[in-house]
Amino acid sequence: MESDSVDCVSLADGLDEEEEVAQHVSSKPHTGVSAVAGVAPETSVHELLECPVCANSMYPPIHQCRNGHTLCSTCKSRVHNRCPTCRQELGDIRCLALEKVAESLQLPCKYNSLGCSEIIPYYSKIKHEAQCNFRPYGCPYAGSECSIVGDIPSLVAHLRDDHKVDMHTGCTFNHRYVKSNPREVENATWMLTVFYCFGEYFCLHFEAFQLGMAPVYMAFLRFMGDENDARNFSYSLEVGGNGRKLIWEGTPRSIRDGHRKVRDSHDGLIIQRNMALFFSGGDRKELKLRVTGRIWKEQPNTDS
Ligand SMILES: [Zn+2]
Ligand SMILES: [Zn+2]
Ligand SMILES: [Zn+2]
Ligand SMILES: [Zn+2]
Repeated sequence: MESDSVDCVSLADGLDEEEEVAQHVSSKPHTGVSAVAGVAPETSVHELLECPVCANSMYPPIHQCRNGHTLCSTCKSRVHNRCPTCRQELGDIRCLALEKVAESLQLPCKYNSLGCSEIIPYYSKIKHEAQCNFRPYGCPYAGSECSIVGDIPSLVAHLRDDHKVDMHTGCTFNHRYVKSNPREVENATWMLTVFYCFGEYFCLHFEAFQLGMAPVYMAFLRFMGDENDARNFSYSLEVGGNGRKLIWEGTPRSIRDGHRKVRDSHDGLIIQRNMALFFSGGDRKELKLRVTGRIWKEQPNTDS
């Protein structure tokens, strides 16, 4: 860390005009990095490594014009050999010094404010952040394009307040799905219920869709947390009527896996519509399914 700081300072001193460029184009906030106290010199180098044109982090080959204005290789291929900063001919000059500095740079993960304390070499930062355990989750609500992201507590509040999702406490459930016109599966219906047990949140999805030519209903559970923690749990779903029943037992999928991905992998209880109507009893005009289920905790995984 010490030696990195020295490098950073000397580089920043030698590239005053770069500073100017970085300032006039970097209108977007520097999230994450600026939240960490005590790394100011690295922050400024980090800013130098931000492409002045597109504001993305630059990776080798980093280019520069004859006047020393840097830009990333993606932008270089788009600017028709004109430096976007000084309008001079760009040429084909690589900025090895900046690439070297980048190599020696260590930066905090951008999810630092969400709890990740890792300090990562510049070149592996993007890879780490794509898989960081602290990266925010997407909203698990299906059936609408919802772009909300956040940590689990904020998503739970969002589901309750904005999507009006039913919240239940307890690890057993008994749920009734009633639909008066079960012939309509084209406009798939989605239902989401959230369960809170073992100090964790689980999403129970129920929906109708077309599986090949056959209309089906599907129920599955997703865990509001990471894949690793999801494996600590199992669940069962049971549906039946008229003396028959279907039972599904599985491991909840993490909400990191998209709703559609889970559905398309058929990782849940699938009920053919004919069977569902049979379970519903009566005149087969109405869908009335009673799904019971249970969530339990597995023994801690001892594999290393
Ligand atoms: Zn760029
Ligand atoms: Zn230039
Ligand atoms: Zn991280
Ligand atoms: Zn949402």
